[in-house]
Amino acid sequence: MISSIRLFFFGTGGSWPTQFRNTACLGIRVGDEAILFDVGEGTQTRIMRSTLSMMKIKRIFITHFHGDHYLGLPGLIQTMSLYGREDSLEIYGPVGAIALLSDLLSLGYYSLNFEITIKEMYDGTELDFGDYSVKSFRASHTVPALAYSLKEKDVQKFDEEKIENSKIPRKLLEKIRKNGEIVFNGNIIKMSDLSSGIRLGRKISYSGDTRRDQHLIELFRDSTILVHEATGEKSLQDKVVSYGHSTGEDAALQARDSNSRTLILVHFSPRYNEITPIIEEAKKIFADTLAANDFMEVEVEL
Ligand SMILES: [Zn+2]
Ligand SMILES: [Zn+2]
Repeated sequence: MISSIRLFFFGTGGSWPTQFRNTACLGIRVGDEAILFDVGEGTQTRIMRSTLSMMKIKRIFITHFHGDHYLGLPGLIQTMSLYGREDSLEIYGPVGAIALLSDLLSLGYYSLNFEITIKEMYDGTELDFGDYSVKSFRASHTVPALAYSLKEKDVQKFDEEKIENSKIPRKLLEKIRKNGEIVFNGNIIKMSDLSSGIRLGRKISYSGDTRRDQHLIELFRDSTILVHEATGEKSLQDKVVSYGHSTGEDAALQARDSNSRTLILVHFSPRYNEITPIIEEAKKIFADTLAANDFMEVEVEL
């Protein structure tokens, strides 16, 4: 069972870094391990200023190979190596990831003391990582791009009264949840004997760069938190869409149509010093909207 899920907004700007916003990176601490969605330039120093441990990063998911989503990768990996990392690292990305990342990670006199595995994901790929899974869908951008969702497995809840009556020591409860049953004082005790039903797993979806696209609604469906790009405002709709992006209103429509609980906007164009118009147009459609800033952290509630 995953104790806590926490989001770290390491980069909330699009295109290029500014004084106030790094380019794309969302960190997620899932229980004791960490993953990243995208690694924009300068991600590693953002991580150093947070409570997320760089060495706990086990998996990195890249949405696409525009520079603002992956150029932080070589530096981050080199630092991990200089820190003496020995644990392997998994990197996932869209079609072309294996060729591109293999080249990127063999530049110069780069030497690593840990193993990196690179895998490509496609429209509908779902990978099971034990307590959670990650799914990818094709996004609608100007180059091959993916959106991702991370879904915690549904969890059986314990019924306090049933636990009391069974006299089972509490230290055995997680074992029962994990194995489905145990033998206690010669009797088989099943999870179903102690259960009060299911707690639905938390779900975090991440759009990467994309136009508003009906296809993604299924991926985003019932997200606890949808982190969606909102590059520009509605008055620039044609331009925003022609570059393969979404407006604040587009992001809000995706949140509403997918029945997501909370929408967090990211990837603001560097043209904006003030993003209020983008937030306002989103809130008109989807009230539970907030805009991310670099260094913001959000605990994902049950
Ligand atoms: Zn971008
Ligand atoms: Zn892009």
